[in-house]
Amino acid sequence: MDCLFCRIIAGEIPSAKVYENDKVYAFRDINPQAPTHVLIVPKEHVADASELVGEKAHIAADIFAAAAEIAKNEGLTGGFRIVTNCGDDACQSVHHLHFHLLGGAKMAERMS
Ligand code: AMP
Repeated sequence: MDCLFCRIIAGEIPSAKVYENDKVYAFRDINPQAPTHVLIVPKEHVADASELVGEKAHIAADIFAAAAEIAKNEGLTGGFRIVTNCGDDACQSVHHLHFHLLGGAKMAERMS
């Protein structure tokens, strides 16, 4: 297994877990870009958001259901931002689908 996030999900590499269910794992980003910065990943290995079609489309719903619960648990009453980088132009650095959940401060209006 050479996928970093598969190894984190398997517990081979430590992480600061904030949420887990049978389909989704979530942990704090090692290099936070906001007061709350959580990575939400599917347990099933999927490379990026372009694969969320057909029988894998449910993963998007699984992620967003978890995101709503995590945001509540983290006390993000003022709102939050969810970002996923897909491919080289978006500077995706880990090729296991992940959604960044960012909150805890007012964010920039521009996203790029
Ligand atoms: P991306 O650039 O969208 O692919 O995001 C990858 C994210 O993974 C970055 O925000 C990194 O800080 C984060 N990251 C990389 N390694 C780890 C790790 N071992 N634990 C937690 N977050 C990590």
